[in-house]
Amino acid sequence: MIPPSISFTIIILVILTVKVMKTAAVCKAERCIWVPGPVIVGAGPSGLAVAACLKEKGFPSVVLERSHCIASLWQLKTYDRLRLHLPKQYCELPLMAFPSCFPTYPTKEQFVAYLQAYAGRFDIRPVFNHTVVSAEYDERIGLWRVRTMAAAQDGGVEYVSRWLVVATGENAEAVVPAIDGMEDFTGTIMHTSLYKSGDMFEGKKVLVVGCGNSGMEVSLDLCNHKASPYIVVRDSVHVLPRGILGLSTFGLSMWLLKWLPMRTVDRILLLASRIMLGDTARLSLRRPLLGPLELKSLSGKTPVLDIGALAKIKSGDIKVRPAIRRLMVHGAEFVDGRSEDFDAIILATGYKSNVPSWLKEREFFSEKDGLPRKPFPSGWKAEQGLYAVGLTRRGLMGVSMDARRIAHDIEQSWKAGATQPMTT
Ligand SMILES: Cc1cc2nc3c(=O)[nH]c(=O)nc-3n(C[C@H](O)[C@H](O)[C@H](O)COP(=O)(O)OP(=O)(O)OC[C@H]3O[C@@H](n4cnc5c(N)ncnc54)[C@H](O)[C@@H]3O)c2cc1C
Repeated sequence: MIPPSISFTIIILVILTVKVMKTAAVCKAERCIWVPGPVIVGAGPSGLAVAACLKEKGFPSVVLERSHCIASLWQLKTYDRLRLHLPKQYCELPLMAFPSCFPTYPTKEQFVAYLQAYAGRFDIRPVFNHTVVSAEYDERIGLWRVRTMAAAQDGGVEYVSRWLVVATGENAEAVVPAIDGMEDFTGTIMHTSLYKSGDMFEGKKVLVVGCGNSGMEVSLDLCNHKASPYIVVRDSVHVLPRGILGLSTFGLSMWLLKWLPMRTVDRILLLASRIMLGDTARLSLRRPLLGPLELKSLSGKTPVLDIGALAKIKSGDIKVRPAIRRLMVHGAEFVDGRSEDFDAIILATGYKSNVPSWLKEREFFSEKDGLPRKPFPSGWKAEQGLYAVGLTRRGLMGVSMDARRIAHDIEQSWKAGATQPMTT
């Protein structure tokens, strides 16, 4: 008589062998790897959070990352003076708090150190320099086939798993708008993802295109490095103080939303902003018709939390310009007919998701913006073991909520599939 534990192990081995054989029969890459747990694409905060929540439950996962490090957005594509825009308690990942010695708004170095400690604590070791170039659900075997291209060699590896977690972020690719005459401009043009500090622009006239949080902060940084920044404000924008009555504006909004409807909270925020910042329309910063929270929830457009740029606009150190009509050899012509020379142009024009470029799935993810079609809080789970984390425009707080739900759901699905946790 074979003991039950040995019989169970034999059954598991048979199931795995059949899966591996089926998988090998359809594998198109040079190397094919069967992953017993989920495949997570992206080693930013989202991918790390899901891997940690799974690890805590005893489930292994494989994290694939195109870059050579974790949190590549934060480590490689952000400017030196960056701090978290929101207070630290709203930016923690699940299961590990920020060190109490960190300030309310941690610096990017502190945030990266926290993420490194997080990866260390949960022993998350991503497969670096592996860009996922395609992922497809194979109906024949009921599994996801995730194909990567390694930076150093070609040929590729195919990972095969029951679950696929998309954690490639809302900021995977820089958005570079096509501006008429761009190729004629002889000065420097760079996206904010390449901007580090105003050092190299001292004494220069710089046009910053875009007035979101990054555009405002880069303009302020340029000012502080003795450059002359001009900021292009094409659309309406909500600028709010970062704090109100000693509380963070974000925290206050969250608290008020527990008791009051969103429109009433918006009115309170706008009144406080008017008292503290004055009429921003007089500085050519028109406010949208919808309030800041309603606009964020309907369109995902984040209000600017002012950390000093507005004072520089008031003093004239940062000058506001309308939309660009075209670029010329030495400068730009604006829609109001004015032309000015510039030494450099910085595009604070944002980022976009890259999901449609590699995921062969169109029902859950929109092809247009690469984000889940269903809004928060439903945009984390699709069919056939597909999940999305950090893609519903809710920042790091949304990341934590998604990660916990995903890990719980995978645990249920694993148990239902009668497969036991295994260590990697
Ligand atoms: C300047 C700036 C400041 C911000 N400040 C805040 C803040 O204060 N608070 C807040 O809540 N949010 C903030 N955000 C939003 C920010 O997006 C999130 O904080 C966080 O980085 C999201 O984590 P993520 O893991 O979802 O995405 P990311 O951090 O972008 O990580 C995604 C990872 O996926 C990898 N990847 C992408 N495509 C592939 C592929 N095909 N194959 C393999 N790997 C791939 C990328 O290399 C990257 O490492 C800020 C964003 C920016 C740009």
